[in-house]
Amino acid sequence: MRNFDYLEPKSVAEACALLKQHGGEAKIFAGGAHLTILMKQGLYQPKALVNIKKIPELRGIKYDDAEGLTIGALVTHREIETSALVKEKFPVLCEAEREVANIRVRNMGTVGGNLASGEPLTDLSQIFIALDARAEITGPGGQRTILLEELFVDFYQTNLADDEILTHVVIPRLPPRSGIEYIRFSSSSVVDKPSAGVAVRISLETNNELCQIVRIVLGCVGATPVRGLKAEALLTGKKVTPELAEEAGATASQECSPTSDLRGSEHYKRAIVRTLVRRAAGKAYERAL
Ligand SMILES: Cc1cc2nc3c(=O)[nH]c(=O)nc-3n(C[C@H](O)[C@H](O)[C@H](O)COP(=O)(O)OP(=O)(O)OC[C@H]3O[C@@H](n4cnc5c(N)ncnc54)[C@H](O)[C@@H]3O)c2cc1C
Repeated sequence: MRNFDYLEPKSVAEACALLKQHGGEAKIFAGGAHLTILMKQGLYQPKALVNIKKIPELRGIKYDDAEGLTIGALVTHREIETSALVKEKFPVLCEAEREVANIRVRNMGTVGGNLASGEPLTDLSQIFIALDARAEITGPGGQRTILLEELFVDFYQTNLADDEILTHVVIPRLPPRSGIEYIRFSSSSVVDKPSAGVAVRISLETNNELCQIVRIVLGCVGATPVRGLKAEALLTGKKVTPELAEEAGATASQECSPTSDLRGSEHYKRAIVRTLVRRAAGKAYERAL
């Protein structure tokens, strides 16, 4: 591994200034679960590491009715898994975290690192997108907020500039009569990264059992998480019957771009997506009723 400078800013502003000063030659270091592997492999050879772990404003999970749930970038997988607040407001996140990697990675890896790495074989992004989460980003020029969905650009590429920090993920309060389900499938060991991970969120119309808002998010089956927009349209304005859930699954399986690899062939992954969407749509609808 090439030698590098190690920097420990105490605020987001200081961290952004350091990143800017290094003009793309520095890397943010959070839990290091992803970064250290790529550095050891020589894929990243930064001149400096900007360790953000001593920045208090990036920590913590809080909730209020107006904003929703705010998760700091430095919150670890394990903190989400064990948070009473997350369990009360969005239990789907705690359930999903239980299956992320192994306890060592969950203790090290942060939400910010999970998302900012742009790694496609992950779990949280699908759930966040299904919940219409926003990403709060700070750079030398100030703050901006985007839909989390817009963060992902390509394999390992995000919308973040070299001198920007993802500071928080904000999940708005769900409308009443909403349900969400996330299902991931791993073709090898249960702690392996998923072959596919599907989140479905359904919010019902006020006075009946018809779907008003539908989010179907397909993960690990393309360069970035992708919405199954045609499948969403199929369910919108209707009751979810087993037949309709099956049709949505078949449609969604054609809305992703899986690649054949050691976790399954393209054909196999499309079949998984089809099944997961069918099951998740049924469960999300049941929870919304
Ligand atoms: C063995 C293994 C199994 C795994 N299994 C799963 C799994 O099943 N499901 C899953 O979802 N994930 C899985 N992961 C991925 C894991 O969740 C991420 O690697 C981890 O969350 C990254 O967080 P980190 O804090 O360690 O990031 P780091 O390694 O510190 O950083 C990752 C990247 O993001 C950048 N970065 C970090 N924080 C920020 C920030 N706040 N703003 C801007 N850029 C930032 C860094 O510069 C770097 O490029 C697995 C990883 C490993 C090693």
